[in-house]
Amino acid sequence: MTTYDAIVIGTGQAGPALARRLAAAGMGVAVIERGLFGGTCVNTGCTPTKTMVASARAAHIARRAAEFGVSIAGPVAVDMKRVKARKDAVVETARNGLVAALSIENCTLYRGQARFVAPHEIRVGDAVLKSERIFINVGGRAVVPPMPGLDQIEHLNNSSVMDIDFVPPHLVVIGGSYVGLEFAQMYRRFGSEVTIVEMAPRLIGREDEDVSAAILDILEREGISVRLNAKCLSVAKSGAGIAATLDCASGAPVARGSHLLIATGRRPNTDDLGLDEAGIAHDGRGFITVDDQLRTTVPGVWALGDCNGKGAFTHTAYNDFEIVAANLLDDDPRRVSDRITTYALFIDPPLGRAGLSEAEARKTGKRLLVGKRAMTQIARAVEKGETQGFMKIVVEADTKQILGAAVLGPGGDEVIHCILDTMYAKAPYTVMQRAMHIHPTMAEHIPTMLGELRAL
Ligand SMILES: Cc1cc2nc3c(=O)[nH]c(=O)nc-3n(C[C@H](O)[C@H](O)[C@H](O)COP(=O)(O)OP(=O)(O)OC[C@H]3O[C@@H](n4cnc5c(N)ncnc54)[C@H](O)[C@@H]3O)c2cc1C
Repeated sequence: MTTYDAIVIGTGQAGPALARRLAAAGMGVAVIERGLFGGTCVNTGCTPTKTMVASARAAHIARRAAEFGVSIAGPVAVDMKRVKARKDAVVETARNGLVAALSIENCTLYRGQARFVAPHEIRVGDAVLKSERIFINVGGRAVVPPMPGLDQIEHLNNSSVMDIDFVPPHLVVIGGSYVGLEFAQMYRRFGSEVTIVEMAPRLIGREDEDVSAAILDILEREGISVRLNAKCLSVAKSGAGIAATLDCASGAPVARGSHLLIATGRRPNTDDLGLDEAGIAHDGRGFITVDDQLRTTVPGVWALGDCNGKGAFTHTAYNDFEIVAANLLDDDPRRVSDRITTYALFIDPPLGRAGLSEAEARKTGKRLLVGKRAMTQIARAVEKGETQGFMKIVVEADTKQILGAAVLGPGGDEVIHCILDTMYAKAPYTVMQRAMHIHPTMAEHIPTMLGELRAL
């Protein structure tokens, strides 16, 4: 048995940064990784998808070149082998950077599956490691739904869909949420026919109805077929392709395509971690129970990132690292409840979100003011020829505090941050009204929008 000052399980978006902080503080740290260094974000999540979204946007803009007065000889062709090679190179650079960042004094890397054998003991291969401080950062993986026929046919998930080096003639995407929509638009732009099958009455149902409707419009205008209120009952081989049998009130009862992508959610990697042997509590879906400072029910064991159910993003995992490090090393009592919900949907144009949706804000019972501005009213969006979408902000009337915002339009994933930072500053919205922003930008219209608030 080898004893360390700290053990980090998993090299996702929290573990490596924490391991570096602990090692720099003089602790002997063991880091255990069973797969590729960097976890989901680097290898199968944010990095590869956003690299491929960039290729898809290049194809889209090239097809629109004539609108901008630019001639391109012949039809636009997408070389998926080169798209994939570009993606692989970006991912490899990011992964190698992480391995280098962990190859430091006081840090020992172990390759293999970690499993608790006691509250403070971990088995990895033939070794048993012991520590008074254990940090779980095991992330999650794609859910394989119990859908009849799925085990009989070849299908793609969020990882394998990025390993193909050809354009699927017709991609059927089961699941109309964040991951499914990014792939649907990306492959449509690469040249696939695309059908999205979603059992809910609208896409990304946690967003406001106007956001869902605008996103549906963006995708349909690009020729994506969206089947709403359509539950996939079973899948089967159909000639050289696949057929998904649907339970739906309208439209064809079968969606056919050449390839099937399952994008129906993710689950935590905790089923093979030995949580019960260690007495670490978790919920029925496998998310590890943590308090506001990410401590599990076993003293000296913390859980960070997707596996604690407090977030499903790279920035929430990294923020988890900051919270744990602040509490352990900086005598700074940061908490999960200090953070404001924020994320993006990286279709093009992207959706940036902060705080409450309008529907969530209405449920608080507070007196509300709402401002909304269409992209057609925003000079920069018109100049760029990208006028789909809108920006919206929700304010509490009595305190003048911003409760939430959505920016669906060019640069929406960046623009949202000026609203987010004002929310963190707890400044009244009137502060933003007095700010002078750069012209012509998307963000310059936030003060304008705030000048047109209406009561709900
Ligand atoms: C297609 C897709 C696109 C995404 N895009 C975005 C985006 O644009 N922005 C964003 O913020 N988020 C995005 N996400 C989500 C983001 O990738 C995750 O939220 C983030 O990676 C979570 O990191 P983590 O630290 O919790 O764990 P992970 O990154 O999942 O890492 C966990 C690591 O632990 C290892 N591991 C697991 N179990 C064990 C064990 N028992 N022993 C040893 N090692 C183990 C795994 O091999 C893995 O390397 C995307 C996800 C997907 C699937």
